[in-house]
Amino acid sequence: MSDFITEPARQIPVIAEADLCVVGGSCTGVFAAIRAARLGLRVILIERQNSLGGVAVSGLVNIWHTLNDTDDREQIISGLTEETLDRLKARKAAYLENRKNGSYNFNPSELAILLDEMAAENKIRLMLHTYYSAVVSSGSEVQTIIVENSDGRGAIRARFFIDATGDGFIARDLGLPSYANDYLQPPTACFHLQGNMSGVDLRRLVLEHGEEFGLDDDWGWSTDVAGCKGITMRADQHVFGVRCDRADDLTRAELEGRRLMRAFVAMLQKYGRDDTSYALTNICSSIGLRETVHFKTRFCASELPLLTGERYEAPILNGTYPCDIHHSSGGGISFKYLDGRESTIYGKGTRSVGGNWRERMGLTGEPAKYYQVPFDILVGDRMRNFIAVGRVLNADMTAYGALRVMVNLNQIGEAAGTAAALCVDENADLRELDGRRVTKTLRDGGSAL
Ligand SMILES: Cc1cc2nc3c(=O)[nH]c(=O)nc-3n(C[C@H](O)[C@H](O)[C@H](O)COP(=O)(O)OP(=O)(O)OC[C@H]3O[C@@H](n4cnc5c(N)ncnc54)[C@H](O)[C@@H]3O)c2cc1C
Repeated sequence: MSDFITEPARQIPVIAEADLCVVGGSCTGVFAAIRAARLGLRVILIERQNSLGGVAVSGLVNIWHTLNDTDDREQIISGLTEETLDRLKARKAAYLENRKNGSYNFNPSELAILLDEMAAENKIRLMLHTYYSAVVSSGSEVQTIIVENSDGRGAIRARFFIDATGDGFIARDLGLPSYANDYLQPPTACFHLQGNMSGVDLRRLVLEHGEEFGLDDDWGWSTDVAGCKGITMRADQHVFGVRCDRADDLTRAELEGRRLMRAFVAMLQKYGRDDTSYALTNICSSIGLRETVHFKTRFCASELPLLTGERYEAPILNGTYPCDIHHSSGGGISFKYLDGRESTIYGKGTRSVGGNWRERMGLTGEPAKYYQVPFDILVGDRMRNFIAVGRVLNADMTAYGALRVMVNLNQIGEAAGTAAALCVDENADLRELDGRRVTKTLRDGGSAL
């Protein structure tokens, strides 16, 4: 018996047509869609889940990092990130931590609702519970994608396509050149915990009682949830030993992620504060993936130019978030900052090793106050009307550790939507587009580039 079947040919109705079709509704995809819509395109946005927001909503990851340079003086990120934060702040659903280069903490449920509103205001046709499943292309042109939803299978025609699925599913189906690092940063299943954690020494609890609950001494973090008293967002344990670019591993990761949440809460219920009853109030609807696959483009971001703040003619992103790499089991988490500081933390702070990469390299002079990424990171060699964005970005492991955070990916999304609008307007080939025009259009639309 053959290991394959041949799917019978069938006619598929064209259910929608647009100038731009964006697949994937995290802020990367939504911001691409909004930028393009504001530049006059008719835009369709496809999302397989019930809401927009991606990892920030379905994964409960509710931190956007600083919009300022490392001195905390010059604002280097604005655009739709700032607009969204301002609107969240106005509904008491986001605040800036009161410290140098503080992060923005937001309420993910409020972000989901705000993104609905922003999509509607910008006249974006939204298709939720709709799953991208195949692509039809001819030569260098993507012509149609095929989606599945409760109406069945349907085709969507567009003049330009942006793959914001995070995993580059369209890019994969187009056979675009890709690579996966030997070692992928592990995922984490986040959850909301109700209960007073002040004075709870988690490191001691895990070292003394972790084994009883099947919990390792693993680095993790937690934060408040804007506007929600008594609730913390917990990201305490990684799921190790899985490659979430593989379907079976992804299932295992979800199951293990939920087991770890339950184990963590059980440990607190037994050994946490006596005056507190701990409860899970919300669990991520999708495990948070840090890394899967990357797609090759004309520019690959790499460690040294990033950390030394190389400047480009056509920047599309400014950032300061440090290189932040989560290693496999036992390897801890490593940070490399623009000012030279570096550290690796093992377990819940059980051991840490520090250093200074600038001194090690003999670099003198002022460290960079922020880094940039140029337009060419969006452009592949094969397709004229297609861009893949999000965590698929082309970067070495260290540069990826810095670029993968949302204030950076949001800007990449905005740049992709802008490039799409310029191409559609002029019936131009992405590969021939002058990146400086993308930068200028982004600036004109409010980006601090
Ligand atoms: C635990 C954890 C903590 C993190 N902490 C931070 C932090 O504090 N701050 C920060 O800025 N970043 C943080 N990051 C990184 C950041 O959250 C992610 O890198 C980023 O959100 C990825 O964005 P994305 O747009 O590439 O993908 P996603 O957010 O995954 O968005 C992809 C979207 O595409 C949709 N999609 C996928 N396939 C299909 C399909 N076939 N059809 C239709 N739709 C589809 C998905 O449902 C999803 O909505 C963290 C990541 C993790 C996992």
